[in-house]
Amino acid sequence: MSPRREILAGRDDRPERSVDAGGEPIVIEAVSGAVELARVVDAGALEGDAALEAGIRPKRLADFVGQHLLRERLEIVLEAARRRSQAVDHVLFAGPPGLGKTTLAGIVAAEMGAGFRITSGPALVRSGDVAAILTDLQPGDVLFIDEIHRMGRVVEEVLYPAMEDFQLDIMLGRGPTARSIRLDLPHFTLIGATTRTGLVTGPLRDRFGFVARLELYSDAELEQIVRRTGGLLDVELTADGASEIARRSRGTPRLAIRLLRRVRDFVEVRGKGVITKEAAREGLTLFGVDELGLDALDRKILETLCERFAGRPVGLSTLAVSVGEEPETVEDVYEPFLLQAGLVMRTPRGRIASPGAYAHLGLEAPAHLGAVPDGSSESAATGRAAPRGAPRGAQESLFADNGEDVGPCTEEDESGD
Ligand code: ADP
Repeated sequence: MSPRREILAGRDDRPERSVDAGGEPIVIEAVSGAVELARVVDAGALEGDAALEAGIRPKRLADFVGQHLLRERLEIVLEAARRRSQAVDHVLFAGPPGLGKTTLAGIVAAEMGAGFRITSGPALVRSGDVAAILTDLQPGDVLFIDEIHRMGRVVEEVLYPAMEDFQLDIMLGRGPTARSIRLDLPHFTLIGATTRTGLVTGPLRDRFGFVARLELYSDAELEQIVRRTGGLLDVELTADGASEIARRSRGTPRLAIRLLRRVRDFVEVRGKGVITKEAAREGLTLFGVDELGLDALDRKILETLCERFAGRPVGLSTLAVSVGEEPETVEDVYEPFLLQAGLVMRTPRGRIASPGAYAHLGLEAPAHLGAVPDGSSESAATGRAAPRGAPRGAQESLFADNGEDVGPCTEEDESGD
């Protein structure tokens, strides 16, 4: 079969991706693709990741590391669909970038021997955008919509009957002569991915038969991913070299893979070509990634909270302006790990640094941080960073902080200004 080509417009963080679903390569190109975030520890995909990711993405559920409960449930959903010879129920994957949502969507297609179509919320603005894709689907195909929370409202309304009844209502003409016709669609599987479950509307969320959250990975799981990728890239790696990279990867496979590539460059140029613990330490330090996996910008956020605002709660937009970033970028890209590691806390009155953050910067924490502030986490009060791949509780709170369940922490709350 010839490769299918699809345009992925409106994405600014994934200029180009190519996903192989069950042996049928699909090439995706972005129309506009300026990559602004060039942080080594940015969990979003950067230029250069795309081609590499295509080669190392696990293609089968058995090769997918971690997320045990999710995998087990997904296996059952897939097997049930297979036995009934039906398309898999619609699936929504939620969680921070780089944890494997796209990979899992490709795996669903491959495991079902189905075609895989991929697009993203920002590319779907008009109803025609999604109608064109839907009418081109084959029975059983998997349609993956990344960043589904950023899809246009009218597109969402077209999707409702498409998801529920596999029907598409199309308006022909305008004004008094306009009439609507209904088209039957093949039974397909919609897989949505979102970094913000809270921004997926209720009616849309209700139409997914299987909703799953991806959790940050443990160090051991990341180590397994580093070793697997090292093997695929033909990189020589000692066990403690792999574990050092895993430890600094913020619980995120995409970062683990990117740090591995940087350290590989380092040992090829400055070392003996083997990634040992020492080489990993030296290489990552050279690229500005510290012991906890923080880079210069993370540290700038912590310094802003600890020094500039001297421990007072700071609103999101104020914090963003202080570090020269967009509020959405601070919230989606930088903050999740800082929150999960217990370095930053979101309180009803704004963000504050934990005693652990002061300790990490070599500063003395203000006395008032000894008490647990409203809405803060326990780890923050104790000053201990939550361990990577931390227990479920810590991860749940990460997702909550990504737009759900957490008490008000809005711009109106900017008491730190
Ligand atoms: P997301 O869609 O959540 O941003 P991706 O699916 O694009 O994340 O994954 C990013 C990279 O991490 C890919 O190269 C993928 O191969 C790798 N990856 C993610 N999760 C896993 C996993 N569980 N096992 C192995 N590799 C993984």
